[in-house]
Amino acid sequence: MKHANISIFVPHIGCPHMCSFCNQHTISGTQKAPAKDDVQRICTKALSEIKSPECTEIAFFGGSFTAIPQNYMIELLESAYEFIGNGKFKGIRISTRPDCITPEILDILRKYGVTSIELGAQSMSDTVLESNERGHTAEDVYKSSDLIKSYGFELGLQMMIGLYKSTIDSEYQTFSAIKNIHPDTVRIYPVVILKNTKLGELYLSGEYKPFDFETVLDISSEFLEKFENIGIKVIKCGLHASEFVENDMIGGFYHPAFRELCENKIYRRKIECKINSNEKNYIFAVNPSCISKATGQNKSNINYFKKQGICIKITGDENIAKYEVELRR
Ligand code: SF4
Repeated sequence: MKHANISIFVPHIGCPHMCSFCNQHTISGTQKAPAKDDVQRICTKALSEIKSPECTEIAFFGGSFTAIPQNYMIELLESAYEFIGNGKFKGIRISTRPDCITPEILDILRKYGVTSIELGAQSMSDTVLESNERGHTAEDVYKSSDLIKSYGFELGLQMMIGLYKSTIDSEYQTFSAIKNIHPDTVRIYPVVILKNTKLGELYLSGEYKPFDFETVLDISSEFLEKFENIGIKVIKCGLHASEFVENDMIGGFYHPAFRELCENKIYRRKIECKINSNEKNYIFAVNPSCISKATGQNKSNINYFKKQGICIKITGDENIAKYEVELRR
């Protein structure tokens, strides 16, 4: 059964920093902090509508959950905890900053049924972290990840591609560090430049020159494939589609189907490796669930090869793993 989240957004309260790219009100689409009654109302409604609550987590997303005032955090958790277990939801998921994790906080989270903790690592280069005013170091990510794992929580790490002062090398450095930490899940977010942020100012002044879209797509698709190949589930690739983001973005890399574009790119690369200069007609087999990914959005991969005079046909075969391609003829 597919995993689902009931998302409850806790906007930018108690956050000890203002990161260069952050405008949480835009990203979460909300300005009002939820009260315990809101949590109860949202969970009651979801419980009456969701068919498999045992595969569903209540997710406190948005700001830095463990940085909000502790009484308020416990109030929200108490409210959500009533909806955990006994035929209700599977657990609670939270997202927070790497420097807002302590044994005391983890004890509280465990007591109230939290199962998964996601950390906004964003980059594992201290230069990039400092330049984007994150207020923590790569070492904080290592330490808090170890602590979270030692408590037995599911660990998720979020990374951003294309931050101010990042380079192709620093992106690979971040990828390798996250790969070595080996979290259970990863989210890959290409940077979206929003109005009313420091990054927005740097961009408009010309000081910050983001990578081009193709570079971001290449890097993201490579990381997506490599993470999944070693058993790290990529649960998000690109910001979720939102009219708030679409209205407030002034640059960067946003596409409502970014993951699909990345998956198309993975297949294009795989196919390209199997093409030789003499042959003009090919049949490739992929897992049946991946035929549209291999074909590409609006047949983009088929058309890409067609422009080079090469005719590609894609067929399905249950025995082929996701992201793998076999040449049939
Ligand atoms: S830690 Fe998260 S919520 Fe806080 S300012 Fe940075 S990005 Fe925004």
